[in-house]
Amino acid sequence: MHPYAGSPALGTATIDLAAIAHNLRVVADAAEVGVIAVVKADGYGHGAVPVARTLVGAGAVGLGVAQVAEALALRAGAITAPITAWLHTPDTDFQAAIAAGIDVGVSSSRQLAALVAAAEHLGETATVTIKVDTGMNRSGVARDEWAGFVDDFARARAAGAVALRGVMSHLACGDEPDNPANTDQADLLRAAVADLNAIGAIPELVHLANSPAALTRRDLAFDTVRPGVALFGLNPVPQHSRADLIPAMTLRTAVSLVKHVPAGGGVSYGHGYVVPADTVVAVIPVGYADGVPRALSGRLRVRINGRDFAGIGRVCMDQFVVDLGPAGGGVTEGDEVEVFGTGADGGPTAREWAELTGTIDYEIVTGIGPRIARRYVGGLA
Ligand SMILES: *Cc1c(COP(=O)(O)O)cnc(C)c1O
Repeated sequence: MHPYAGSPALGTATIDLAAIAHNLRVVADAAEVGVIAVVKADGYGHGAVPVARTLVGAGAVGLGVAQVAEALALRAGAITAPITAWLHTPDTDFQAAIAAGIDVGVSSSRQLAALVAAAEHLGETATVTIKVDTGMNRSGVARDEWAGFVDDFARARAAGAVALRGVMSHLACGDEPDNPANTDQADLLRAAVADLNAIGAIPELVHLANSPAALTRRDLAFDTVRPGVALFGLNPVPQHSRADLIPAMTLRTAVSLVKHVPAGGGVSYGHGYVVPADTVVAVIPVGYADGVPRALSGRLRVRINGRDFAGIGRVCMDQFVVDLGPAGGGVTEGDEVEVFGTGADGGPTAREWAELTGTIDYEIVTGIGPRIARRYVGGLA
């Protein structure tokens, strides 16, 4: 499952599919509605097809992705569940989307017109989810375009070019459960649905809540919730929800090299770290091209044989160095290295990396690069 199949990958992300199925149940129980599972960006770096298969098998009512190309890749992987794709450009291939039975999320009358043209060309009816901008001011039909959009939608529907499946919007502040913007957005979504009902268009599914809202705002769940990150076991609101989520990805590699560095020796580019006393180091063969942020230079730790060892010097494109101490810590070349994992045993986690580098764990897992093999456990993938 990596593009260099001639020799084993140096790093492996083990994906626990049983954890993903468990996380789906946790989120569904919190929200008390069905789940449209978001598997964009290659399933947040976990591998979209095996993850989607697992989530559908565990009861997800549908799947969500950003791009039509992502939806088509799921179809190519024999995923037959409903899929909604909601981010397009004027070049997006809506004919391919319609032919593959993709539910197209539209954010403007221009997108609707392009979808209608594709449907008419094929002589088919396109399935549509209307994406409403209720205040995030990103995707979704803009407030000042809404009345015109509803007219255009009524005409397209009357012509048989489109059938309404869903109405959706996205929260700007879902990770702040008490932010009044969340309730305001829900009110505007309800008003949009009422406008559609007034032209006789009744959506099957209305959805607003992302992971943090699904975990904390039962009142914003509508017909279904649309979580992504929580399904992978990463809790975006740990201070508000004690949901029993299990991180699904563990990144491992093997020690490449063990060697002595004498006192005063500088380590890695720029000699940013100089060893204060004779020591033994290990070379860890994953780097920023594999998703280990360079900003973690001198700040990360890894687990080898159940012990923590600190990274020293700069993280490079392909590798970084850890200090094993003067006695070498009993580490030998080839020993397994846990770069990050579930944290259940106190080891490093994607969240720890995110906190150290001023980002969110979403960015850590989606950044795991193509040289890292994905290995699936705990399921049928
Ligand atoms: C990414 C995304 C989601 C999922 O968000 P999480 O925070 O990962 O749960 C839901 N809806 C839309 C429109 C998205 O872009």
